[in-house]
This record gives sequence, structure tokens and C-alpha cells, in this order.
Amino acid sequence: MIPVTKPYLPSREKLNRYLDGIYERQWLTNNGQLVQELTQRLEDYLGVENLLLVTNGTLALQIAYRALRVCGATPGVQAEAITTPFTFIATASFLKWDGVQPVFADIDPDTWCLNPANIEAVISPHTQAIVPVHVFGNACDVETISAIAEKHNLKVIYDASHAFGVKYKGESLLKHGDAATLSFHATKLFHTGEGGAIIFKRRDDLERAKKMINFGITGPEIIEELGINAKMNELQAAMGLCVLDEMEENHTARAAVWHRYEQALSQTLRLQAKPQALDYNYAYFPVVFESEEQAVRLAATLKENGVLARRYFYPSLESVECLGAEVDQPVSKEIASRILCLPIYSSLSLESIDKIAGIVTEAANG
Ligand SMILES: *Cc1c(COP(=O)(O)O)cnc(C)c1O
Repeated sequence: MIPVTKPYLPSREKLNRYLDGIYERQWLTNNGQLVQELTQRLEDYLGVENLLLVTNGTLALQIAYRALRVCGATPGVQAEAITTPFTFIATASFLKWDGVQPVFADIDPDTWCLNPANIEAVISPHTQAIVPVHVFGNACDVETISAIAEKHNLKVIYDASHAFGVKYKGESLLKHGDAATLSFHATKLFHTGEGGAIIFKRRDDLERAKKMINFGITGPEIIEELGINAKMNELQAAMGLCVLDEMEENHTARAAVWHRYEQALSQTLRLQAKPQALDYNYAYFPVVFESEEQAVRLAATLKENGVLARRYFYPSLESVECLGAEVDQPVSKEIASRILCLPIYSSLSLESIDKIAGIVTEAANG
């Protein structure tokens, strides 16, 4: 079976060397040497400052939100945050979980990111933040979103889980927003098994978040504020250091896969529209079909041929009842129902891509 993605497994020998070091130092967590090393190396690699490693991408969102002081600012009044319905459930569920009502604004039909034109209509006196997603690694309209946030005095937290290494206008896309969060889950482009990071615009927000990820403890007998456990450990960091070492090879291989798909499919199918100034990371290959029926039928045909394509992101999140935000989002609903993500990972063979592209083309034409 060809899966939709495969976790990248780096050199076992190198990982063993890092593990030897962990055994020698007998230090497993709490801002260990490897976590510090990975923090530095990721800042250099991504071209960012104020990066904080955490346990996973969901806690990254949660900590970012709290560190920016946008949670529970008005006791007794439910806070709201404006976000996109076309994303992985965690973007909206972390808000709801923390007592913040996610309020959806519909996406752009071409880029599939939050459409800034829909944001102002849903801003209320309770709105505290905008949480857009650089979906599949595509850049949101960061300039317009930033202008709206400034006008209404709102914080912006980008869920940049898919945007590792993406550049926009020659600079890291992660520099936009008061904070941007990454997921280092095993299936993501860069991973630490489980893990995540926050990139803060301001150093004082980073310093506050550093306390928060370790229970608010700042000294042997000092608990300065409310916190939680969101620390990355040394085993996660060891995996990350190894994966980072091989990032260039991984990137080159994925780019080849992506371009082969594009060459075969861009005439027949609708692909995600990206801004000219985007330097893409080749994390995903989503395609949109003419109808839901066609997408579902194709997924079944691919499965019969030993290929797993996934309906990311389906369903559109306004239809998820437990989020309590049931206003219709027609564009997101439409795209979500007709989209499929095709398998993409660095070791996917060209023969496999051609086979998949062949089946997809036939289905799209038939
Ligand atoms: C993967 C993902 C997350 C959650 O990250 P975890 O590391 O799995 O907690 C959040 N948002 C988006 C858009 C994701 O794809």
C-alpha cells in the first residue's frame, strides 16, 4: 500500500550517537543540551528569532494564545477568535477547549486560506485574536490580515503547522503575526516524532511562554504564574537534530515528486493557487475535483490500486458540532468536499507517481 505520507526516518547511526550522549549526560528533559542545540539550529535554518520548542503543535497554539495574554482577559465574557474552517481540527478545537469560541470566516476559493475580506464582518466586542492557517504551506494574505488586526487591536497567531521552511518575499513566512506555530508531528515535513514550536515576534512574549511551558516555575521555590507542562524532551530533540541534518536531501526529493505530479496533473485539475513571491516547501499535493462524487470515487479506485489518498481537510469545520460554530461556510464546504491529498514523501518512486497520476487523470476525464 502506498500511504499518503511516510514519516522521514533519518540515519539510525547518527541517532544512536545522540542517544549515547543522552545516556552519558543522564539528562532527559527540562531544557537539556539537545533542546538548546535544536532551538539554535532551527532559528538559523528558518531565519527567525524567539523560537520556543514545545511538546506538540497543539500546545504550541495554546501556549502562544496564553503568552499573548489574549485568553480570559474579560472574566465572565466568553472570548472569541476568528479562524478558518478549512484546516485540521486542532486549530479550532484548542480554542474551544480553552474556553475561546472559534468564529469562522470563509476561505479564498483559490488559495484556500482565510479570506481577509470575510474577517471584519465577524469581528465582535469579544474578538481577541485572528488565527489564520497557512494551509498546506501556502501563504495567507499576511499584509491585509495584519492591517485588519492593527485597526481592531487584535492579536494574530498563525497556525503555520504546514509552513516549515516556507519563504515569502525572500523571508521566512513564520515572521508574520504576533506568533506563528509549528507542528513537528511524525507526519509533518520536519518532525521530532511528536513536537512543535512557537516563533514569537517579541522577546517578552517568548520569555513569558518559557515560564508557562514549565508550570510557571521560575526558581527552586518560586512559582511565578499559571503554567502547564509543554516542554520538549531530549529524545524528541535528538530525532529533530537528525532530521534537520538531512533536510536538504529530503527537500530536493520532495520537490521532484511535487513537480512530477504538477506536470502530469495541472492541465486537468485544480491546484492550490500560490502567490508569486512564495518559496514553497512541497509538503502536500492537494487536488480539487469537479464534484464530491468524483473525488470519493477516485479515492476508492486508488485504494483498489494500493494507493491511499486522503480527504484533507474534510469535513469543513463549521459542520463539527462540538465546536459550536454552525454558520455556513460555502467556499470551505465546497473545497473540503471535493479535495484529495495525493501521496507525497521523499522516497516515493517516479513510477508510483506516474501510476497515481495516470489513475487520477483518467478519473478526472471520465
Ligand atoms: C498537525 C497540525 C496541528 C496539530 O499539531 P500536533 O503536533 O499534532 O499537535 C495543528 N494544526 C494544523 C494545521 C496541523 O496540520
